[in-house]
Amino acid sequence: MNHPTHMENTVDLVIPSPPVTTLAVSGSHARFPVRRIYCVARNYVEHAIEMGDTGREPPFFFTKPADATLPALTGQVIDMPYPPMTSDLHHEVELVVAIGKGGNDISVARAAESIWGYAVGLDMTRRDLQAEAKKSGRPWCTAKAFDYSAPIGELHAASSTGAMVKGAITLDVNGERRQTGDLSQMIWNVSETIEHLSRYFTLQPGDLIFTGTPAGVGPVHKGDLLEGQIEGMSSLKVKMV
Ligand code: MN
Repeated sequence: MNHPTHMENTVDLVIPSPPVTTLAVSGSHARFPVRRIYCVARNYVEHAIEMGDTGREPPFFFTKPADATLPALTGQVIDMPYPPMTSDLHHEVELVVAIGKGGNDISVARAAESIWGYAVGLDMTRRDLQAEAKKSGRPWCTAKAFDYSAPIGELHAASSTGAMVKGAITLDVNGERRQTGDLSQMIWNVSETIEHLSRYFTLQPGDLIFTGTPAGVGPVHKGDLLEGQIEGMSSLKVKMV
């Protein structure tokens, strides 16, 4: 089905078309265009406990806009502006899954076929605003979906990494380890997450999924250097400015 927003080439626009957000791809000059960002909440047991959850409930999701992406420059530190309207900005290091082939009702057995690649990402969170939103039963948008809230490292093709089902995931702040976990500790693994998510939304090429964070989330301040790492991929280095 054609949608008007997909016809920029044939339609006169009253303002310039917004640019497409793209991610660097390891070993390539070509880039990956971002369509939507989906995020899974509380997907590691220890982190779910630190956030007040117990037991295995179905995964739940929130989103960030595509242009909240802060793409990494290969081998360099990227600057992230400390956002306004918070005094408790937290880091959450996460495995990011990039969708190359879309669909809905994607089964666990077919989920791997939909994955183009993986990256290290940070789901930066205004924890104070999130706590207020939880208390009052309001949406998380201002806590999660603000400008530059999604720093993401170089993408690695799944054809070179294989399925990312285990491996250390860590986050250092100023050289000190803050978060430690293993991808195998996810409550809902990547394939199960794709199965759940694709019941609610038709996944499309260009979609990203943040798959949740291990325990150890905490505040960052202006001047801090964050380094997120997942075994087998380039690290993500972010300086708070
Ligand atoms: Mn998160």
